[in-house]
Amino acid sequence: MSRFWSDLVAALTPYTPGEQPRVEQLVKLNTNENPYPPSPAVLAAIRADTGDGLRLYPDPEAGALKTAIAQRYALDAAQVFVGNGSDEVLAHTFCALLKHARPILFPDVTYSFYPTYCGLYGVDYRPVPLDAALRIDPEDYAGENGGVIFPNPNAPTGRLLPLEAVRRMLDLNPDSVVVVDEAYIDFGGESAAALVPEYPNLLVIQTLSKSRSLAGLRVGFALGQAPLIEGLERVKNSFNSYPLGRLAIAGAVAAMADEAYFERTRQAVIAGRERLTTGLESLGFEVLPSAANFVFARHPAHRGESLAAGLRAQRVLVRHFRQPRIEDYLRITVGTDAQCERLLEVLEALCA
Ligand code: PMP
Repeated sequence: MSRFWSDLVAALTPYTPGEQPRVEQLVKLNTNENPYPPSPAVLAAIRADTGDGLRLYPDPEAGALKTAIAQRYALDAAQVFVGNGSDEVLAHTFCALLKHARPILFPDVTYSFYPTYCGLYGVDYRPVPLDAALRIDPEDYAGENGGVIFPNPNAPTGRLLPLEAVRRMLDLNPDSVVVVDEAYIDFGGESAAALVPEYPNLLVIQTLSKSRSLAGLRVGFALGQAPLIEGLERVKNSFNSYPLGRLAIAGAVAAMADEAYFERTRQAVIAGRERLTTGLESLGFEVLPSAANFVFARHPAHRGESLAAGLRAQRVLVRHFRQPRIEDYLRITVGTDAQCERLLEVLEALCA
């Protein structure tokens, strides 16, 4: 291959997603799905739309969904952008809002899709190391940059940045877009959505994949002041003028409307996380404080890679990253109580 082609292909190195094996009876705790089903209202809304509805194109504005999301966060529909999962919203964000002459900043360690998007869109970046306790320190994000992006809580650490620290990040970067990727915020954090009216440089990205149990429907959204949202709309319309299919819109509207169900499952996951943490600690694991639907844990006497392999041999899947600083950690999704008990049983034998 010529240098030209090899450079081109190298810039398009794909993200490696967590495994989605097609095997039954796995205890699947590797991709942070919600262990509980979506609200029954979601299925009813999708069913209601499957008749003659499917003959018709969807609303290109996805207006009903934007309105439902805007209401929940006390914003206007013009301050909401929707896409096929937050991964697509992130992709459009890198293309529309983070492409500048200066490098963008994101934490090292973080969601590994970020460098992939940078490669895809030719965005220069500078990873900013986490502190000794694997936390993000906003003071490290001062100075000229082409934008800032970080998950809150961070992935895969699960550590939360309090809202005041998010505000500090925004104040330190008045001339850059600051993107807060809140895929896991509902499991223990305060959303920066409340800061949108105050900060023209803030974009908050969320998903229905985690706290609304709809990873399979592929719906994500961004919240920001109208000029940022308009930038995202322009990029999206250049690819596909229909952001979401009819069934995704119908299901997502119903999910946003069922606040009581959302609250129940959210609390169940949080309670499950506390039990899982206690169980891991009683086996000698160090568990980082998590505000997400997963925990990040390491055992002082066992390597992460061998624990992940030992679990896999017993059909329990967790995520392990071969990456400096975190190679001894396992990222474990909070499953049902039965799944977590099975995980702990296998780990107890492996750590004995
Ligand atoms: N952001 C972070 C930090 C994530 O961990 C994930 C899930 N892998 C996403 C975004 C994307 O989620 P989705 O595309 O399902 O909305």
